[in-house]
Amino acid sequence: MWVTEYQTPSLGFSCKATETLRTEQTRFQHLAVVATEQFGKMLLLDGMVMTTDQDEFVYHEMITQVALNSHPAPRQVLIIGGGDGGALREVVEHPEVEEGTLVEIDERVIAASKDFFPQLSCSFDHPKSRIIVDDGIHYIKQQSNRFDIVIIDSTEPVGPAVELFSSSFYKNVYAALKEDGMLVVQSESPFINPDVIKMAFDGVGQAFPLTKLYLASVPTYPSGLWSFTIGSKGYDPEKVINHPDKACRYYTPELHQAAFKLPAFVEQIIRPEK
Ligand code: SAM
Repeated sequence: MWVTEYQTPSLGFSCKATETLRTEQTRFQHLAVVATEQFGKMLLLDGMVMTTDQDEFVYHEMITQVALNSHPAPRQVLIIGGGDGGALREVVEHPEVEEGTLVEIDERVIAASKDFFPQLSCSFDHPKSRIIVDDGIHYIKQQSNRFDIVIIDSTEPVGPAVELFSSSFYKNVYAALKEDGMLVVQSESPFINPDVIKMAFDGVGQAFPLTKLYLASVPTYPSGLWSFTIGSKGYDPEKVINHPDKACRYYTPELHQAAFKLPAFVEQIIRPEK
């Protein structure tokens, strides 16, 4: 048996599967958990790979540790999406963080993580964690001057996640951040989704005085090369000033800085005028 994600109409990513552990249609999306030979257990939403036992550490360290270690006092951190709990684990285990708030629209994703991904869902019971089931688009409008870091760990811009990539949403995030806050968004693949990267980078750039892009290699995501867009009200996200308490498996202070060194074709995506 093989599980295939059709990353484009003409490109598939297939993994040999040994067992289907769960399939269900939630209020928002189709959810599946599959046991694969190569990557262990795999969570898919609407047929798209969200996370796997074997490579989750790359994405979850890189969407969190860059902002956490370039902001001097990341006390209050908000994650929108991220219902698998991986980003929340990195946040609440960081020594500088006082509280990690997760706002996930689909409680069935949280339930699936609790049932099949203990190394991710361990974060839900952490004393620093606060879990809210809500639409992040609605939740952010009720927040003002509250968070040091906001992380958008969402699905791609389809369904409930579409507005999470809009400039109006980024402006609402700006208002929810303290005067020296930072925003990190997962902004998809330079090879497959240059249009999404441009949309996110321009949208964040309209709201924040400093906007940068950095990359990581995520084997189970389309093309294996992934981007993150970071908007900052002040601090330079390339400057490493903190460090996690633990030895990360992908993130290092040196890699933090190297991740911002972009291939020429990626520079072209975000700054075509150059
Ligand atoms: N790392 C994955 C990626 O890059 O595609 C994302 C993982 S996480 C499972 C994505 C989560 O975003 C899903 O659980 C989905 O339910 C959630 N989500 C989508 N739109 C949302 C919204 N408007 N508010 C809150 N959560 C949302």
